[in-house]
Amino acid sequence: MKTVLITGCAGFIGANFSEYYLTHHPDTRVVGVDFLTYAANLTALEELKKNQRFVFYKADICDKEAMGRIFAENRPDTVVNFAAESHVDRSIADSMPFLRTNIEGVAVLMDACLSYGVKRFHQISTDEVYGDMPTDGDGSFDEASLLRPSSPYSASKAAADLLALSYYRTHGLSVTISRSGNNFGKYQHEEKLIPSVIARVKRNEPIPLYGDGENVRDWLYVVDHCRAIDLILEKGQAPEIYNIGGSCLLSNKALVKKLLTLMGREDHPVVFVTDRKGHDRKYAVDSAKIEAMGFGDRADFDTALAETVACYRSKAQP
Ligand code: NAD
Repeated sequence: MKTVLITGCAGFIGANFSEYYLTHHPDTRVVGVDFLTYAANLTALEELKKNQRFVFYKADICDKEAMGRIFAENRPDTVVNFAAESHVDRSIADSMPFLRTNIEGVAVLMDACLSYGVKRFHQISTDEVYGDMPTDGDGSFDEASLLRPSSPYSASKAAADLLALSYYRTHGLSVTISRSGNNFGKYQHEEKLIPSVIARVKRNEPIPLYGDGENVRDWLYVVDHCRAIDLILEKGQAPEIYNIGGSCLLSNKALVKKLLTLMGREDHPVVFVTDRKGHDRKYAVDSAKIEAMGFGDRADFDTALAETVACYRSKAQP
């Protein structure tokens, strides 16, 4: 039986991917690793644990000994790394945990991959490594675009991408990298935009929007993201990078308006607050490379957003 080791399996995308992988690969074991930081979703983890092909380790990816033990016990064929510090605002307040987990942790994982003969290491990266572009243009970044990260978070992710490529060149580790837009769907932490808007509406609190609210993000349904990663694991070639753009480019202001409409709360108060330091104006990537590999249609944005809102509003979802 094939074994896939998924780090950050209790986080938003890692939990969705673990669930997706167990469903679509009935012949595979999933070894989940997560340090269970504040960002972990314990409800999602409990759901995963119900599957007999899932085994969980609470461990820090920066802990060499712990990773060595987990790799030795499970001998994974493939490693997919979602474990990260992921919130830009937190990286502005304190960049150190980002340098540790997002860079050092990736090196520890890749060293373990080399020691235990892992056949593929896939690094989950972000479109934020390219930096931003003006909101009025219709350009996009492709995989060869310069890396010009704006925040300590995106700089740590860019550093990890370069480190991963260096492990391919220096050690011959089979590495692939994917860079996606902003994900949405179930299991996301309340500090992120969509769950925070829904939670604030529930609590009857005003919704803060940075600056003029015109910053544009490229929204990708998390299930489409999982499908893209699965495709890269199957057909992607080392040491390639794959952009995974979303199905809708939308300003934060327009997104909040859509969410309030979906909740029937169009008149809910929105307040504009002091802009985030170094706030990127617009992210947009060219996904031609993954499309050419057969990625296919993404979920309809409005339908997926409506389902996501319903999921957070229902009692069943955190
Ligand atoms: P998240 O913050 O929801 O989850 C991260 C998970 O990693 C958490 O469960 C946390 O406990 C775990 N973790 C943190 N430090 C760890 C450590 N040292 N050892 C082991 N586990 C640790 O993040 P997410 O939104 O699911 O993002 C997953 C990955 O996808 C990240 O690499 C992020 O950069 C990337 N990404 C996210 C988005 C997005 O929109 N959320 C977009 C593009 C790329």
